[in-house]
Amino acid sequence: MKKSVSRRNFFNQTIGIGAGALLLPLFPKINLRSSADRNKPLIITSHSNETGQKAMETGWEVLMKGGSAVDAVEKAANIIEVDPEDTSVGYGGLPNERGVVQLDASFMDGKTYSAGAVACLENIKTPASVAKLVMQHTDHVILVGTGALEFAKAWGFAEENLLTEKARKIWLRWKEEMSPADDWGAPEHLQNIMKKESYRKDFPDIEHHYGTTNVLAIDTNGDIAGCTTTSGLSFKLNGRIGDSPIIGAGLYVDNEVGAAGATGRGEDVIKSCASYYIVLRMKEGRTPQQACEDALRMIVDRYRKVNPDYFPSEKFVAINRVC
Ligand code: ASP
Repeated sequence: MKKSVSRRNFFNQTIGIGAGALLLPLFPKINLRSSADRNKPLIITSHSNETGQKAMETGWEVLMKGGSAVDAVEKAANIIEVDPEDTSVGYGGLPNERGVVQLDASFMDGKTYSAGAVACLENIKTPASVAKLVMQHTDHVILVGTGALEFAKAWGFAEENLLTEKARKIWLRWKEEMSPADDWGAPEHLQNIMKKESYRKDFPDIEHHYGTTNVLAIDTNGDIAGCTTTSGLSFKLNGRIGDSPIIGAGLYVDNEVGAAGATGRGEDVIKSCASYYIVLRMKEGRTPQQACEDALRMIVDRYRKVNPDYFPSEKFVAINRVC
């Protein structure tokens, strides 16, 4: 049955965003492209910068030619992954504590409920594409570390150094600034560095020490796919895996309902199974916007019981199908 949606409430019906800034009048920016035909096709990228824009346009072209949501999402994610200036995703991403760039990515096809992911993948610029191959060519869901690298190489991906000069300098500065009070990747420590005038002067475009991109799309057949890709928390412990490659945490897609993706502190997102929760809430009739806010509220309610000053850093994006 078709659900009618007026142009006015179109955005509430089809996409949603939620941020740690939920309690303030602030929301993350996203890139959205959709047709006038309700939400088919539709693509969003959680990166709103110029590269995010280019990524969205690239995915949109795939969709407009009748391509699948899976292909559109992959092409869009790749644009962001190979951007050397982006310190949060793929090539140029900030490294772990050893100065090694370890990437996490996941892919999900809402039509078949199949999913694939890679974690702690080194030397491969486009982990989203490797995750897609795990999804399409194995019955596994996650490959990690050297296993993920072997798999990528078997599929013809070239090994490359992912640590750019810019990322190396930022990592070295982080090491210089370490003190006995620091903890690995603890959010407070990372924020403290950024407050320093010298750091802001030297690295003016670094707004945070984390970041991820989510790409969600609906194709002309109404099939939905999503991808989440990241270099993860900067200066993390060697081998740390965030939420991005965990299906249900950093990403979840269900053709019958919609899709959701997460960025922000992965540990909180994993422990709350946030993307799955958002999709479940949409299934219960919540709009994407409401479902994203529900997830944030769930996280805040839990953590504030332990720490009254807790402020969430998570951001969510979601789309639902209108049919
Ligand atoms: N969620 C990512 C992680 O924890 C980082 C981020 O999105 O900021 O690895």
